[in-house]
Amino acid sequence: MEKKILFFLSLVTFVMPYGLIAQESTLVRNVEEFDKAVQLAQAGTTIVLANGIWKDAELLLEGKGTAEKPIKLTVEDKGKVTLEGQSNLRLAGSYLHVEGLVFKNGFTPTSEVISFRKNNNTLAYHSRVTECVIDHYSNPERHEQDSWLVLYGKNNRVDHNHLEGKGNIGVTLTVRLNSKNSVENNHIIEHNYFGPRPTLGSNGGETLRIGTSHYSMENSKTIVRNNYFDRCSGELEIISNKSCQNTFENNVFYESEGTLTLRHGNETTVKGNVFLGNRKPNTGGIRVINGQQTVSDNYGYGLTGFRFRGALVVMNGVPNSPLNRYFQVADAVIENNVFVDSDQIQLCAGSDAERSATPIHSVFKNNTFYRKGPEKIFTIYDDISGIKFDKNTSNYPVLDAVKKGFKIKKMNLIEDEQGLMMPVINGKMIRPDLAPTLPTKRNVGTDWYSKEDKRVAFGSGKVIPVKAGINTLYDAINIARAGDQLLLTEDGTYEMSKIPLISRSLTIKATENIRPVVLWEKKAAFEIVNGGALSLEGIVFDGENAPDYSGNAVIRTSRYSMNQNYSLKIVNCDFKNLDVNHSFDVIKVFKNTFADAIYIADSQFENISGNVMALDKETDDIGIYNAQNVSLLHCNFKNIGGAVISIYRGGKDESTFGPLLNIDQCSFQNIGFGSRNKLQSAIKLYGAQQIMIKNSIFDHSQNIKIHLVVGEPIVEIDHLNLSPHTKIEMSGDQPYLLGTLYQKTKPEEIRLLKGDKNQPLGYQN
Ligand code: CA
Repeated sequence: MEKKILFFLSLVTFVMPYGLIAQESTLVRNVEEFDKAVQLAQAGTTIVLANGIWKDAELLLEGKGTAEKPIKLTVEDKGKVTLEGQSNLRLAGSYLHVEGLVFKNGFTPTSEVISFRKNNNTLAYHSRVTECVIDHYSNPERHEQDSWLVLYGKNNRVDHNHLEGKGNIGVTLTVRLNSKNSVENNHIIEHNYFGPRPTLGSNGGETLRIGTSHYSMENSKTIVRNNYFDRCSGELEIISNKSCQNTFENNVFYESEGTLTLRHGNETTVKGNVFLGNRKPNTGGIRVINGQQTVSDNYGYGLTGFRFRGALVVMNGVPNSPLNRYFQVADAVIENNVFVDSDQIQLCAGSDAERSATPIHSVFKNNTFYRKGPEKIFTIYDDISGIKFDKNTSNYPVLDAVKKGFKIKKMNLIEDEQGLMMPVINGKMIRPDLAPTLPTKRNVGTDWYSKEDKRVAFGSGKVIPVKAGINTLYDAINIARAGDQLLLTEDGTYEMSKIPLISRSLTIKATENIRPVVLWEKKAAFEIVNGGALSLEGIVFDGENAPDYSGNAVIRTSRYSMNQNYSLKIVNCDFKNLDVNHSFDVIKVFKNTFADAIYIADSQFENISGNVMALDKETDDIGIYNAQNVSLLHCNFKNIGGAVISIYRGGKDESTFGPLLNIDQCSFQNIGFGSRNKLQSAIKLYGAQQIMIKNSIFDHSQNIKIHLVVGEPIVEIDHLNLSPHTKIEMSGDQPYLLGTLYQKTKPEEIRLLKGDKNQPLGYQN
C-alpha cells in the first residue's frame, strides 16, 4: 500500500489506539518530504512529522480521506515537534485529521496560523484539528492583525487544543461564514483550553468569534461546548457571536474579563455555562442583543463587571439597525439562571438617542440571585415593559420596577459536587443538577502540554545582594532571572553608564532603613522591553548625572512594538533633580506598548522639567491607549514643569474597559507651569473609562482637564482641596457621573502633608 513512497522516506510502524489494525505511516523530516508525502497521500495515509524544531515550515495538507480512513497528519512524539519561526498550516479537502502540532517561538507570516482552507475556493470539510498547541505565537507588531485558528468549510471539529497568550490584535479562534460553502457549517469546538489572553487595550482581542456583521444573518450552527476559558481578558467580548443558530453549552469562563456577547445574529442558545469571576475586576457573564436568544441554566459567581461587562446584560437596539449596529432584543428567553454574589444585571443597557429600541416579547423567569448584602444589582436604563418577569428569586428586595416577578426568600450557600457555591432555600439546594459535567483546566486541551502560569510574579525568585558602585546594578540586572529581587544593600550611590534592558520581571529594592541613590548617565535609567516588568522600592532616583539634553527619563519603554504587556510598580521612592534640561520625564512610554498596571505609592516627586508620565502616545482615535490600570496613592508632586499624568484614548470604540485611573491622597504643588507644557494642565485625561480622583490637594497647579468620549465612563471626583489656580474642566459628549463631583476651593485649607504609609495624606476638613 505504500508502493509509491519514494525511497528516501522512511517507514515506521504505528499501532492504532483502538485496535489491532497496524498501519504504515510516513515519517517526514522536512517540508520537502512533507510535500511529497501529501502528494502521494490517499485515504488512510498517516504523515508523521519527525521530532525536532520545524523552522519556517508552511505546511499545506490537501487531500481526500474518508470517514473511516482520514488522511492524518501527526507527530513522532507529542511535545517534541515544534513549528517555529514563520510557520503555519493549511488544510484543504475532506476527512483530514491533524494532531499534536505545537506552534511557538515565532508568528505566522500570513494572517492565520492554522486555517481550514487553502485559498478562498478550496476549503476543508469533515476535518479535525486536535491536540494542537499555539502558545504565544504572536506577531511582534502589537497592532498587526492575525488569527490563530480559523474555520472555513463545513462539519469540522476543533477539540482538545491549547491556545494561549495571544498578544497581538486579532481573534484567537474564528469561524468564518464568508461563502456559501461555509454557512450551515455544523462545526464543533469542544474540550479546548483557551489559556490566558492579556488585555489588548483595543477592539480585536476576542478569544472566539463566529461570523462577522456582514454575514450575521446566515445560519452558522456551530456548537461550542465543554471548553475552558482561563483568564481570557483581551477585550469586552470574550466570545463574539455574530451569526445565527449557534450553541454555547457547558463552557467554563474562569476569571475572564468581558462577556459572552450575542453581538449579531439570532436564535443562539447559551446553556449551562459557568462564569467564575471570583470578584476579579471586569468579570462578566452574558450580553444579549438581537432576536430569539435563549439564555438558560447558566451560573455566575463573583462577577463584578459594570455596564456592558455585567453578569447579565440585555441591550437596547437601534430601530431599523444596519447590520453592524445593534438589533433590538426580541423574544429572548432568560430562564433558570443562577447568579451568586454578582454585582450588575443591566437591562436596556446602552440606551441612548441611537439605541432607543427597548427589548420586546421577552421573558425573564425562574432566575435566582443570591447577594451578600442589600445593594441593588439591577440597573434599568429604559422601558422594560417588553420583558415579562416571573417566578424569579432573590434573597434581598429588588427594584420596584421588577419586584412583581420576584419572590424574596432567605438563602444560604453550600458548595455543590462541582465546587460551585449554590443557593439553598429552606434546606434545599436550588440547582443540584446544574452543569453536571463541567470541564476543568485539567481535562481540557492536551494532557502533555503544560498549563502552568507563564507570568512570573515580582519577588518570586531569589534575592541577589548588590553593592554600591559603578554598574554594579547594571551587571546584576543582566544576570538576574525572572522573579529575582536585586537587593541594594549599601547606603551609597549606584551609578549606571549604560541602560539596562528590563526583559523579565525584576524587583530592585533597598535594604530596610537605608536610602541608596541611583544615578545614571544615559537618557534613561531603565528601559522596559518586551516581556519585562519592573518593581522599585525604597530608592532615590537623582537625575543630576543625566545628559544635558532634552527628553530624558528615569524609566522608558522600548520604542519598538511590545506584544507582551508590562507592569511597573514604584513604592516608597524619591525622584528628584530631573531638570538638567527640558522635558525630563519620570516615565516615558512609546506607541505600541501597553501597561497592565502602573502602580505608584508613597513616593515623592520634586523638580521635574517634564511630565511624571504621559500615557498619550496612541493618537489614532481607534479606541486604543497605553495603560490599563494607573494608580497614584499617597504621593507628593512638587515643582513639576509638565503634567503629572496625561492619558489619551481617542475614538468611539466601546470594546475596552480602560484606561482606569485612581488618584487617592496625593498632593500637587506647583504643577504644570513649565513653558513647554503643551498639555496646559496638571492632569489631562481624554477618553478614560474610569476616573477616580479623591482626597487630594492641588496648590498652585494648572487645571484638571477631563474629556469624556464614549462608554458611560465612571467619574468620581471627591474631597479635593483646590487652590484658586486649579479648576476642574469637564467636557465631552457623554459626561456620565456615577460618583460625586465635589470641589472645595478654600485656599486657607490647603495644607501639605508628607505622604507616607503610616500617615497618609488626607483632605483636611
Ligand atoms: Ca470586539
